[in-house]
Amino acid sequence: MNDAVHALLRHQPRLMPGEVWLAGAGPGDPGHLTLFALAGLDQAECVVHDALVDPRVLALARPGAAMLPVGKRGGQPSWRQDEITARLIALAQAGKRVLRLKGGDPCVFGRGGEEALALAGHGIRFRFVPGITAGLGGLLAAGMPATLRGTNQAIVLATGHDADGDTQLDWPALVRLGQPMVFYMGFRQMPRIARSLLDAGLDGQTPAAAIAAATLPTQHVVSAPLAALTGAVAAAGLAAPALLVVGGIVGLRARFEALLAGCVADLRWPSEP
Ligand code: SAH
Repeated sequence: MNDAVHALLRHQPRLMPGEVWLAGAGPGDPGHLTLFALAGLDQAECVVHDALVDPRVLALARPGAAMLPVGKRGGQPSWRQDEITARLIALAQAGKRVLRLKGGDPCVFGRGGEEALALAGHGIRFRFVPGITAGLGGLLAAGMPATLRGTNQAIVLATGHDADGDTQLDWPALVRLGQPMVFYMGFRQMPRIARSLLDAGLDGQTPAAAIAAATLPTQHVVSAPLAALTGAVAAAGLAAPALLVVGGIVGLRARFEALLAGCVADLRWPSEP
């Protein structure tokens, strides 16, 4: 490593006692961490993390740091949001250096904004540390650029389930927009989302894909016309976490693969040195 790299890592921004960094760890692979998130891991005395943060990322925490998993994983008991917020406040008020680490970006369907408001309400100093969100980074890792001239002029990032487990999305409006959509969703919601789009008039032949465990060694992409996707996903045995992508950008993956064999090959940080 050259000296500039060492100097950069030595002069990292300070995580102060009583301060909370609300950080994103990226979609999974440690290679998608930012240097800010790494600096947070290096300094935090307490890491309050979600279930989606990869163990190889958590292993980068400072030796002796208290690791506090508060993850919500489908079906399993998890911390309530108010309990998580209360714990963050208590840790900061006790003068700890706190890293709140979430998958992807902390504020893309990640409740980072809500936690920041609660911290601010208690006069606690916090910083946002952006992360690569799964709906963009995971998409690209699966060979689908978020935008391409001539293919799309916008991209919709949507959640397939809101806090109450149901979406308030205006499905006909989404379909009318005619732009690709990426759904963050509980895995079980996929058939309902596909059905809502078809009921709202989207052509069943629209290219669609499910991307599971994007960027991880278990990454698995299943693509099919929207009307056939749910069946294809079930046949392939896909599991959470997964994204649903609908629109023309899905087809780019196949074009890249066909044009340049291996160009969609997954880029991963080696597990073993
Ligand atoms: N803050 C996160 C999203 C949290 S919501 C971000 O910015 O990425 C959780 C949802 O994100 C999952 O249900 C899934 O739809 C999606 N997701 C997160 N990581 C993923 C991954 N590695 N592969 C596929 N989907 C992922």
